[in-house]
Amino acid sequence: MNDNSQNRRNTKQRQTVLDTVMEHCDHPTAEEIYLDVRKKDSKISKGTVYRNLNILSGNGDVNQVKVQGADRFDKTTCNHYHIICTKCKKVFDAPIEYAEQNDSIVEDKTGFIITKHQTMFEGICPKCQKEKE
Ligand SMILES: [Zn+2]
Ligand SMILES: [Zn+2]
Repeated sequence: MNDNSQNRRNTKQRQTVLDTVMEHCDHPTAEEIYLDVRKKDSKISKGTVYRNLNILSGNGDVNQVKVQGADRFDKTTCNHYHIICTKCKKVFDAPIEYAEQNDSIVEDKTGFIITKHQTMFEGICPKCQKEKE
């Protein structure tokens, strides 16, 4: 395989990983993305998928959400908050406005240049509440 076809293959794999994130509305883990990508490209390795996820989130093409246990990936790249269900571990977008003023307050008090903050609400989702009854 020469350099050019290697490059094309890399580009195609990255696009497949990106497409797969875009198909999800439920903040999948890297593992879930890997399993979905495998359905499209049975030769792709887990390392390749994980590496491409890191590149894509570094570029800002996808959003990486820090969650206890496993990081999630999000097609929504604008700043927003999340809610995690502590029972089923599903992650949802929280319908509340991003508090930009908090970034400035922390900047003023610490001298940091703040790029963003993440907030994770925790609770029991409506579906899990129903299952309890
Ligand atoms: Zn739940
Ligand atoms: Zn989200």
